[in-house]
Amino acid sequence: MKSYKIACIPGDGIGKEVIPAGQTVLQTLADTLEQFSFEFSAFDWGGDYYRQHGVMMPDDGLEALYDKDAILFGSAGDPQIADHITLWGLRLKICQGLDQYANVRPTRILPGIDGPLKRCRPEDLDWVIVRENSEGEYSGVGGRVHQGQPLEAATDVSMMTRAGIERIMRFAFSLAQSRPRKHLTVITKSNAQRHAMVMWDEIAVEIAREYPDVTWDKELVDAATARMVNKPATLDTIVATNLHADILSDLAAALAGSLGIAPTGNIDPERRYPSMFEPIHGSAFDIMGKGLANPIGTFWCAVMLLSHLGEEQAATVLMESIETVTADATLHTGDLGGSATTAQVTEAVCGHIRNHGKIQKVA
Ligand code: ATP
Repeated sequence: MKSYKIACIPGDGIGKEVIPAGQTVLQTLADTLEQFSFEFSAFDWGGDYYRQHGVMMPDDGLEALYDKDAILFGSAGDPQIADHITLWGLRLKICQGLDQYANVRPTRILPGIDGPLKRCRPEDLDWVIVRENSEGEYSGVGGRVHQGQPLEAATDVSMMTRAGIERIMRFAFSLAQSRPRKHLTVITKSNAQRHAMVMWDEIAVEIAREYPDVTWDKELVDAATARMVNKPATLDTIVATNLHADILSDLAAALAGSLGIAPTGNIDPERRYPSMFEPIHGSAFDIMGKGLANPIGTFWCAVMLLSHLGEEQAATVLMESIETVTADATLHTGDLGGSATTAQVTEAVCGHIRNHGKIQKVA
């Protein structure tokens, strides 16, 4: 039987509640299906670690992750620590250190979820956003001088490389090719940003030639926001730079009903390093410690993690269990207008997994 090593990094806030819930669900799947097992290791990195050690994670922390098959990550964010420290000190350090250059965000309106778009049927909104996750606006290139002086100046340079664009375009075209619609929308801003974004557009044209069965179009990022709201069915797979996709995917999550549902995968497509799966919500300190966090985003991450490991049957069982639970409004958490707790949603999903196992054994 295969055994997978999973690193669990709850991080801050509700990450400490949803990641143990995700671990419970994965363990229930392993116990029920009896096809694989998990070896979980927990890492206490994040805001509390920073208060004790002055860093969000140890300098040699990445080494402890190299031999893992995947990482389940909660959130990084702390009201007492500047956001750029929590982000760069943990999440980006892992994404960049493990070269997880493709950030993948599936978005759908799950059964029972009431999205804010009046005329959008659930089948109209089925997207995967691919975010370039290693360079662009978040490459960290820039500086700040003359701090506090009238001459103070600061730059954040969006650095884009041919190699970086080629690999994310190839990944996005391949992903589009694997989906029924076989359609990719390339998000750009080359009308205003006339260097790197023009190169981005040119490389999209070059890579598109390798995928003759994939149709594709180009959309300015500002126009893309309107298209997502007004014509959601015209979109399928979407590729965008680090900043553009960061913004578009929060809009996508809101259009699908709640931040609490949406998952994301930070993928190293070449599988040199473990990939990392995390719900897109942040640490949500307003509800932390109350047992009210919606764990569905983390469970959907677990589906992505299982797919990444090649455990498609387990991924399908978990996704079906999630959809059965979201369809039941009595199991909605506060973000969805309900009053269910993290524990109730987790137990309901585990119950469906166990039922599935029983049905399978009888068959
Ligand atoms: P951060 O600064 O770490 O990004 P944040 O609290 O500013 O975190 P989010 O956590 O992304 O931002 O979410 C904003 C709000 O949405 C939260 O304050 C919370 O009320 C709600 N929310 C987010 N995720 C969930 C969830 N999983 N379950 C329930 N409510 C959630």
